Amino acid sequence: MSLLVVGTVALDTIETPFGKAERIIGGSATHFALASSFFHKDIRLVSVIGDDFPPAGIEQFKKRGINLEGLQIKKGEKSFFWAGRYHIDMNSRDTLDTQLNVLATFDPVVPESYRNADFLMLGNLMPSLQKKVLDQMNIRPKLVMMDTMNFWMDTAWNDLMEVLKHVDVLTVNDEEARQLTREYSLIKAAKKIMTMGPKYLVIKKGENGALLFHENQLFFAPALPLEEVFDPTGAGDSFAGGFIGYLAGTRDLSFDNMKRAVIYGSAIASFCVEKFGIERVSELTQQELDERVQEFIDLVQFDIDLV
Ligand code: AMP
Repeated sequence: MSLLVVGTVALDTIETPFGKAERIIGGSATHFALASSFFHKDIRLVSVIGDDFPPAGIEQFKKRGINLEGLQIKKGEKSFFWAGRYHIDMNSRDTLDTQLNVLATFDPVVPESYRNADFLMLGNLMPSLQKKVLDQMNIRPKLVMMDTMNFWMDTAWNDLMEVLKHVDVLTVNDEEARQLTREYSLIKAAKKIMTMGPKYLVIKKGENGALLFHENQLFFAPALPLEEVFDPTGAGDSFAGGFIGYLAGTRDLSFDNMKRAVIYGSAIASFCVEKFGIERVSELTQQELDERVQEFIDLVQFDIDLV
């Protein structure tokens, strides 16, 4: 099984109530690829950077065995840049700056060796580019998952609706689900989204966990209550990386296995938020990950005998 991801590889400036980090390594594809590499070995990246991107970032990808044949490096150009500031509750943030830079002219080319990938993650990116990647696949992947954000709902609505038609699983946060449907109830919003294309929907609720929807089935996974939440940036992408990485690693697309994938996604996202950017996930060990999954199991397991 192989997993192809397209998305941003970026430089981020992040302000949280606990500090500020400037021009650190980020991007939707970065967080996704690093997280999914804990579950699956064949990860192929399609993205673009400028020559201002730190070599240490490239090293991180290589260290985790991520295939970079589809990563374009544009000489004399600047990488995608995003700046955001978190509110005191850390669940909401304001985007302070989005500089497309290399992304403005990005033409994603899926290398021939990537075109038969079994799983495809359309990470947060311009919807027209997400569609362009999908169109280059030789065969339709077994599972196409997509992430998006309010920025693209505001600036590229029609393209977003078009690519959504071809997606199996959509991941959005609660605010984005509401913006996408103009429904306050997340149940109503989920029903509407599942008429737009996706058969499965994950609604991420930050520190309040995540909901998985499919037809009339619903599953809820809490987020692990953490002592230290330092920087939530990338938690959503790490979640998606863990989720689809687990599915690719186990080769099982049943709803029951998706429930387990939600737990694995939540576990890796819980590490992402403990330090700025990719710092915590970069130093994560398999043993720490396993122990955290056990903490999730312990958190929600209880026995009730209904008489
Ligand atoms: P998340 O916190 O999971 O939503 O992901 C945050 C990451 O997404 C950051 O590292 C940013 O570089 C990246 N990002 C921010 N805005 C966009 C955008 N409009 N399109 C693609 N990626 C973005």
